[in-house]
Amino acid sequence: MLRKELEIATFEDLLYHYPYRYFDRTQVTKIASINPQSEYVQLIGTLINIFEEGVGRKKRLTATLYDDTEKIELVWFQGAEWMKKSLKENERYIVFGRVAVFNGVMNLPHPEIELLSATSVAGMQPVYPTTEKLKAKGLSNRSFAKITQALFEKVRPGDLPEILPSTIINQYRLCSRAQALTWIHFPDSDEHMQAARYRLKWEELFASQLKIAQIRLQHTIQPGWKFEKVGDNFNRFYSNHLPFQLTNAQKRVLKEIRHDTATGKQMNRLLQGDVGSGKTIVAVMAMLLSLDNGFQACLMAPTEILAQQHYQSIHSLLEQMEIPCAILTGSTKGKERKDTLQRLADGSLPIVIGTHALIEESVKFQNLGLAVIDEQHRFGVGQRARLWQKNEKAPHVLVMTATPIPRTLAMTLYGDLDVSTIDELPPGRQEIKTVWRNEMRRANVMDSIRSEIDKGRQAYIVYPLIEESEKMDYESLMAGYEQVKVFFPEDKYRIAMVHGRQDAALREQNMQRFVSGHAQILVATTVIEVGVNVPNASVMLIESAERFGLSQLHQLRGRVGRGAEQSYCILLTGNALSAESKQRMHIITSTTNGFTIAEQDLAMRGPGDLYGTRQSGVLKFKLADIVKDSGILEQTRQAAQQVIAEDPTLTSPQYQPLRNILFREAHQSNWSKIS
Ligand code: ADP
Ligand code: MG
Repeated sequence: MLRKELEIATFEDLLYHYPYRYFDRTQVTKIASINPQSEYVQLIGTLINIFEEGVGRKKRLTATLYDDTEKIELVWFQGAEWMKKSLKENERYIVFGRVAVFNGVMNLPHPEIELLSATSVAGMQPVYPTTEKLKAKGLSNRSFAKITQALFEKVRPGDLPEILPSTIINQYRLCSRAQALTWIHFPDSDEHMQAARYRLKWEELFASQLKIAQIRLQHTIQPGWKFEKVGDNFNRFYSNHLPFQLTNAQKRVLKEIRHDTATGKQMNRLLQGDVGSGKTIVAVMAMLLSLDNGFQACLMAPTEILAQQHYQSIHSLLEQMEIPCAILTGSTKGKERKDTLQRLADGSLPIVIGTHALIEESVKFQNLGLAVIDEQHRFGVGQRARLWQKNEKAPHVLVMTATPIPRTLAMTLYGDLDVSTIDELPPGRQEIKTVWRNEMRRANVMDSIRSEIDKGRQAYIVYPLIEESEKMDYESLMAGYEQVKVFFPEDKYRIAMVHGRQDAALREQNMQRFVSGHAQILVATTVIEVGVNVPNASVMLIESAERFGLSQLHQLRGRVGRGAEQSYCILLTGNALSAESKQRMHIITSTTNGFTIAEQDLAMRGPGDLYGTRQSGVLKFKLADIVKDSGILEQTRQAAQQVIAEDPTLTSPQYQPLRNILFREAHQSNWSKIS
């Protein structure tokens, strides 16, 4: 049960099951001084009037706490039965909770509560994370404290040996491991508790940075194809077929790629550039470089639509040069598929664009020299690993992302990749005007869209579609579509619709109607989020914008402003917005800089939800927070680089304990192969 609920299986796990806060008798608020803005408060008082009301699922338990100034109600909606048994009237308790206001009266819903006599007068009493299930079995906070206490009574001085070398301990002024582990459970002062947390965060981040430094080192010794020359394909394209002048940023990135691929080592490069910054052409030219050196190249996109669009634009660029290229997706079937596979295997097909279908077992390349991966965070770690396995030698890898990655996150997630940044938009772009409107003004908004369309422009209207409420969202998309048709009657306007429930062929057909300029309005879900390129589209209307994350809004907005015309992004929201949603709307209307937005997104949401990183486990730290602890992160990164440079395999005795810890965590072991 403990294992299932909290992943605690050994004594050591228990040691690392840290308290998340402490009861501290010296930090107490008087009840009379609480106000609705107080947020979290800690109170000491006497408990009276414990009683249960309601039946079944409506059952709740209330109790009153009073001190020498005032009284306040405590209330539990869950586990009422169990709480009732464990609480005693007329006893003194220490209580911690968040102030809520119900019917104009303040109360504390689901507070943590502890008998005052069970807490120590001087020190701070640890409060451990537990779950409702464990509580029901009697494993409350207090039981955890008792077990941990018993464990510590058995601990002898040598049982918690230091694992960091003393040079590091001294240089970064860390407390010892034994001190840290003792103090985090049973701190005798706030200062010691802080010192303990600091040290343990340091250790966590250091371990991750060591791994990254090691992988990076492996990359630098990983043999790769050597692209000896810039040849005919690249040069002909550059002089005769380039549809515009490259920006300086694009040129710089191409130089970086050229340099990497000529070293004889595998390239692992992350290309980040805001939406519309022109990453595609860089990818194409890198692929030509691969061809010039006698290798094949592929480009992998996260969705069918994107793969199609890449294929079309790349195909038309390469057609003039008579370079064959094909598309391979889940819907490539029959003879066409067989043919493509055959030509990839015998080497007569130099370039292929596709989706996940490219990493299927049946796909064999004759000699893949470069793999470009677009919008990489949609691809799982394992999928990239499979792409790698397609060769005797690793192909060069160029990962492209339009979601700029905040520095701290990049250090943690992609510390092993070299990063190129396109920080300049092609010339002549106008800043997209972004406005936030209430739904009540829908008619106005539709009028302004109509005037754009009447000028010959096109518009996107996007609805949220997220998995949890898929059915409801689907219905509101359909209702929205009907409504759009009221504002834009079908005898005068042409509307296309795409969403995830259509089969690929129909979706593609509808998308194509919009891309070709035939349809003036595209009603869509977020399937169009990444990459789609229709320069004539000048309006992006986002319905229920409050339901989108910042980065997603930014991505959607990036679908317009791709031509020379002034473009608009309109965010429609309802009335009842949370403070956080409002903040998101303010941020997105006040800047179009993807980096700023990514930083704010990370700060608001924390790293856990971002970029599909949750499953990967890379950002799973117990204490550390890469945003708040960016200072520590920077220190550990430097320290890790130094250590790995000195002793790449950590074999010297002073690093032995660290080495043991790193190798115990096997779940990241095949990282070196992912990109
Ligand atoms: P993203 O980086 O979002 O993938 P794209 O590669 O789709 O951006 O490029 C966005 C648009 O800008 C395309 O229409 C492309 O043809 C155009 N573009 C790219 N580079 C330049 C440039 N140097 N000058 C003018 N237009 C460019
Ligand atoms: Mg793109």
